[in-house]
Amino acid sequence: MRKTEAPLSLETLAVRAGQERSQFNEHSEALYLTSSFVFDNAAQAAARFSGEEEGNVYSRFTNPTVKTFQDRLATLEGAEDCVATASGMSSILALLMALCSAGDHLVASTGLFGATQQLLGTIMPRFGLQTSFVGQTDLDAWQAAIRPQTKLFFLETPSNPLTEVADISALAAIARRHNILLAVDNCFCTPILQRPLDLGADLVVHSATKYLDGQGRVLGGAVVGPRRLTEEVFRFLRTAGPTLSAFNAWILLKGLETLQIRMLAQSAKALELAQWLETHPRVARVYYPGLPSHGQFDLVRRQQKGGGAIVSFTVKGARAEAWKVIDSCRLLSITANLGDTKTTLTHPASTTHGRLTPEQRAAAGIGDDLLRIAVGLEAVADLQNDLERGLTAA
Ligand SMILES: *Cc1c(COP(=O)(O)O)cnc(C)c1O
Repeated sequence: MRKTEAPLSLETLAVRAGQERSQFNEHSEALYLTSSFVFDNAAQAAARFSGEEEGNVYSRFTNPTVKTFQDRLATLEGAEDCVATASGMSSILALLMALCSAGDHLVASTGLFGATQQLLGTIMPRFGLQTSFVGQTDLDAWQAAIRPQTKLFFLETPSNPLTEVADISALAAIARRHNILLAVDNCFCTPILQRPLDLGADLVVHSATKYLDGQGRVLGGAVVGPRRLTEEVFRFLRTAGPTLSAFNAWILLKGLETLQIRMLAQSAKALELAQWLETHPRVARVYYPGLPSHGQFDLVRRQQKGGGAIVSFTVKGARAEAWKVIDSCRLLSITANLGDTKTTLTHPASTTHGRLTPEQRAAAGIGDDLLRIAVGLEAVADLQNDLERGLTAA
């Protein structure tokens, strides 16, 4: 991208940032599907390997297509640097392996993505990394959970599926006072709706699989932040190899180009659907950050540029009624995935949160009457008609 005089807006950067044309002057970003790169001579090979000379070596840690994606996402998050990974989970693993050691301690929110909970709660303790889980919205609990060994706060906001919002600025202030790093999983909002680094977070992780791709095609992830931290993540990735493939990076670049229009449109449709659900006689409660009835509406307005595309609600009744809504749908996809242009519908208690005990589910507030919708790009009227059939049957 050539230098421009005025600073560019996010929607422009999403289309343009990071691109460097090759000798062929291609207009669309080139896909470099090659595992390794050749050198002009032995001295250059040595210089590339030692890092003395910048340039590509081997696609486990250097690939131009991956670099373009990394540069574009770093720009969108307002960050110095980005390290792309094979999936969202491997971005979280890489972050932990790079920045934490045996004996360290983490504080994390209870509402984290299921696999993240498993990673922190059952796998990392085997390597001496302990995590205390506290409520997303309870600042005192975060403060009280701090130990001398606490290295990192980890959270995801809004939470899945109940859309609880963590106050990023307030938690960043607590973390900073205790010399603790704050990492935010920004999967649900993306930089279009929320920029955690601007609010004081140290690092952002992404499941690029969701809204960054946006069309349900590939897996990917990223760690975004200042170079002094991403450098460590890069060193882990270079050695251990949970690398984003060049092909997936190329798909994700195309995803970023439409990120703003998708996020704003999906968020607007989600709001309309949430408002409709709130007035529906068969619906007991709606969870959506863009509704004034959301318990943290003021914080949402300060922290996010929209409510996002995830709407959860409880039906009057229990599991039978919730399943009836799912089984009556002909348009909505019955899948736990999210961040797609196709709207999806899931019953968290029996799918994403099915591995929790009934007691754990009750503590997390995930009842058998709860349904979660990840709103896509279909017409809201069509989504309403599809849900109405099930709600009437329920
Ligand atoms: C899906 C998801 C992940 C994991 O990402 P993968 O790309 O599936 O590995 C992490 N965090 C959140 C919030 C997610 O929704």
